[in-house]
Amino acid sequence: CGIVAYVGQQEALPIIIKGLKRLEYRGYDSSGVALLDDKGLTVYKKKGKVAQLEKVLHSSSNLESKIGIGHTRWATHGEPNDVNAHPHCGSSQKIAMIHNGIIENYEVLKKDLSKKGYTFQSDTDTEVFIKFIEDIQLNNHCSLEEALRLALHKVVGAYAIVLINQDEPDTLIAARKGSPLVIGVGEDEYFLASDATPIVEYTNKVIYLDDFEIAVIRNNRLLIKNIENVETNPYINKLEMEL
Ligand code: GLU
Repeated sequence: CGIVAYVGQQEALPIIIKGLKRLEYRGYDSSGVALLDDKGLTVYKKKGKVAQLEKVLHSSSNLESKIGIGHTRWATHGEPNDVNAHPHCGSSQKIAMIHNGIIENYEVLKKDLSKKGYTFQSDTDTEVFIKFIEDIQLNNHCSLEEALRLALHKVVGAYAIVLINQDEPDTLIAARKGSPLVIGVGEDEYFLASDATPIVEYTNKVIYLDDFEIAVIRNNRLLIKNIENVETNPYINKLEMEL
């Protein structure tokens, strides 16, 4: 339902939480964040309002990370509960993903992955999606970004996704088809969101990702390519700020 992600010099969590609250108008049943710092990847998620998630966060340390992803979920596959809330992790617990939309062929993918020994904690199509990407990466010995690109040739449905990876702590990877995804370009920082509302207070420069495009923000640089691996030149829109 709602997506907010951040990488830059500021603390990611307050930006993500504020952004998720700005997206509350869309309606949702649960929320969650994944934060990455030197100690690794940590996921927090909770059924209910973002305020419920904040209660969980209050009792936690290691919240100062400069990179993170956040989500508000509107359940389509699996009831609204803590486990089905996003982000979802791969088996390795090193990668986490947030997803808006529906993966239509998730049952076939899930069956294949189960045969290979994968197990699933949630009932979501999203967990199948991330484990499908993970499996492609393992089989092809390739980067996560390349595994995602290959996965998008096989996945049917609608998605806006953002991935975070413990092995690449300065990198966010995003893609979309059918569900909107906006990139905010700041000074030495980038924002990703399902619409511009969480971004406008930080920057007026936005890029609307197109269907079948993959955005890689790495080491403070943005690269956009399509799923045929052809780099595209992003058009930067200047938003009129109405505050
Ligand atoms: N299909 C996913 C789920 O049920 C994502 C739903 C959404 O767009 O929030 O978890």
